[in-house]
Amino acid sequence: AGGFDPETARRDVPVLHRTVNGRPLVWLDNGATTQKPRQVIEALGTYYSAANSNIHRGAHTMAREATETYEAGRAAVARFLGAESPDSIVFTRGTTEAINLVAQTWGRTNIGPGDEILVPRLEHHSNIVPWQQLAKEKRARLVPVPLLADGSVDQAAFADLLSFRTQLVAVSQASNVLGTVPPVKEMAALAHRYGAKVLVDGAQAVAHFPVDVRDLGADFYVFSGHKLFGPTGIGALYGRPELLEAMPPWQGGGNMIDQVDFTGSTYAPVPHRFEAGTGHISGVAGLLAAIDWLTGFDREAVAAYEHELLAYAERALAEVPGLEILGSAPGKIAVLTFTLAGLDPADIARLLDRDGIAVRAGHHCAQPSLRHYGLETAARASLALYNTPQDVDRLATSLLRMREDIA
Ligand code: PMP
Repeated sequence: AGGFDPETARRDVPVLHRTVNGRPLVWLDNGATTQKPRQVIEALGTYYSAANSNIHRGAHTMAREATETYEAGRAAVARFLGAESPDSIVFTRGTTEAINLVAQTWGRTNIGPGDEILVPRLEHHSNIVPWQQLAKEKRARLVPVPLLADGSVDQAAFADLLSFRTQLVAVSQASNVLGTVPPVKEMAALAHRYGAKVLVDGAQAVAHFPVDVRDLGADFYVFSGHKLFGPTGIGALYGRPELLEAMPPWQGGGNMIDQVDFTGSTYAPVPHRFEAGTGHISGVAGLLAAIDWLTGFDREAVAAYEHELLAYAERALAEVPGLEILGSAPGKIAVLTFTLAGLDPADIARLLDRDGIAVRAGHHCAQPSLRHYGLETAARASLALYNTPQDVDRLATSLLRMREDIA
């Protein structure tokens, strides 16, 4: 009533109307990747059928048009994140590449022996491993921040672990397994008192609620287009302008240089300095369309709808005997990671697939967060704005039948 109607999103997304194993698809694997609205699919098609060209170096009309598309995408990402300017946005392949870029440029310049990098236990492997590699190289320490039983990041422990040795806090704005939305703004403010920098992994956040990197106090913010209803292979890094300015380049090659000579080279200004080689131009066109599509909805209403749908799903799954949901932190995103007594998570996913329901099973690239609950694997249903109470009913019915079959 007066809220968001998921049908307005659903009707734009062709794949949601297919069948799987003879049943209408229920896509509950949005944490892994989201489905694409036709606006995104058409943007990719239009780019290749009408406007394909390399950018920045051609002097012809189509090169100019492709450049305009690429830079319009950058401006759209900057607006979407509340960034200072398009120059504070670097295109990457996705979240993983963006974090590695920061680790290998900012990190290698600013992290030294004895320094500490604080990372909550709920992080995705892509926000753990690059820091572990950096810490090993620099003889620094990667320090895990513990979780509470409900999957919240222990704020008292975080405050205790912070010190003048802390150079970086790397934290997800939303967890892909537990759904936890840590108080990133408060954590950033506290970290800054110690002079530490803050990288925020927005991979699971951007599709669910509006983001403002400057309000958050993020020094770096990263996300993937494919979790935002856009194409794979494109994502972005936001960096505070003075930090990006001071960072050395990462990969070397075309597009990132100013002058090249065998005696040495000079580099292009930010952000091009960090974008060696031909970029994913069609991906940027698709990402631009995805941002336009998502921001065309009332995002506060979407967030409210998803929270209602999460509560509905929690009630529905509570009726399945032996089912346990991991993570109940207040304000969590609509992610339901669960176990079902007597069934292996891989079998749960396989049996749901027979009913046309897609969920993920495994360690979700976040082994430490599952081990917090003494588990190696679990099943996960992750919801998006186009999911409905009927999708949740199909999941609950299927799980109830599974329980009956093994009882
Ligand atoms: N961080 C989080 C919280 C994620 O959920 C994911 C994807 N599951 C990533 C990082 C990595 O994203 P990508 O594989 O698109 O680089």
